[in-house]
Amino acid sequence: MKVKCELVLENHEFEEPKFPVIDMHTHFGSLLFGDNYEETYDTRQVVAAMKKAGVRKAVVHELVWHSEYDRLIKKLEAEMDFFAVFGSVDVSKALEKNFDQLVLKQIRYLKSHACAGIKLWKNITLFGEDYFGKNLRLDDPRFDVIFKVCGEEKMPILIHVADPPCFFRKLDETNEHYACLSAHPEWSFDKPGIASFEEHMEMQENVIRNNPDTTFVVAHVGSYAENLKKVGEWLDLYPNMYVDIAARVDQLGRQPYTAKAFIEKYQDRILFGTDLEATFSEERIAEFYHTHYRFLQTKDEYFDHPFPDFLGQWKVFGLGLDDDVLEKLYFKNTEDILKIGLD
Ligand SMILES: [Zn+2]
Repeated sequence: MKVKCELVLENHEFEEPKFPVIDMHTHFGSLLFGDNYEETYDTRQVVAAMKKAGVRKAVVHELVWHSEYDRLIKKLEAEMDFFAVFGSVDVSKALEKNFDQLVLKQIRYLKSHACAGIKLWKNITLFGEDYFGKNLRLDDPRFDVIFKVCGEEKMPILIHVADPPCFFRKLDETNEHYACLSAHPEWSFDKPGIASFEEHMEMQENVIRNNPDTTFVVAHVGSYAENLKKVGEWLDLYPNMYVDIAARVDQLGRQPYTAKAFIEKYQDRILFGTDLEATFSEERIAEFYHTHYRFLQTKDEYFDHPFPDFLGQWKVFGLGLDDDVLEKLYFKNTEDILKIGLD
């Protein structure tokens, strides 16, 4: 049963964004919606709802290359001006002899077909069993070619290699994502054969450090929104590292003083992203974005974050960021990194 809150407070539920918005982190393909993803949403309708909520462009992340990339572009075609698309490389071939050539071919193909960057995902270190028979390390020398070619081809990499630390911890009532992990036990990584959260952070740091000419956008506040001091240390050390805030308003919003100071300090390195799913209803899209704006712009207190049923079982507090910071977060930083402009 949901407890009714009796606090009477300022409420800017439908806060409009103060600047145009680029959503750096959205999903429109098979990664979340399965192989028949084309049937799960109507591109024009979703884009219309996003535009109504103040979004001017969306960056789509999928594990696609060659014909599957073309297929995704076809699905988005009617609104192509609205999208920038990140593809990927077939990491399942990492153990094959010609992997280097394959990567080169796949990245060049994407680059020549207007692809904006490369997405790397949890399949290497967490779901590797399905791909290689075991999990591999992200800093395994076999993957060096990806980082090297992306640096040469000026393709930024969006990297999402770990989930919140508690996904790796023992799954019992003391786990702060117990509700979420009980509903989705497959997201619990407290299993043999899976590297610890700390090892994941090490691997992530190694590839960023070893590839200074490659731009990395590390999703979900550098994979470690629970420890902004640590993320700040990485940002200090590695000028080629950026972070998005996708699906981490729950974490940022329960440490509003720390989060505000962090975002202000690293305002040139943080990108607005949400993890929007194209299958959201029109109402959900409106509520979803306005909650993000409310969180970033207002000092509203104790309200639901954008994923209340799924992520942290707690309320959040608005950051009330200044205009010059919001402007960078909402679109300027992403414009710079992706070399795209809002017309
Ligand atoms: Zn995502």
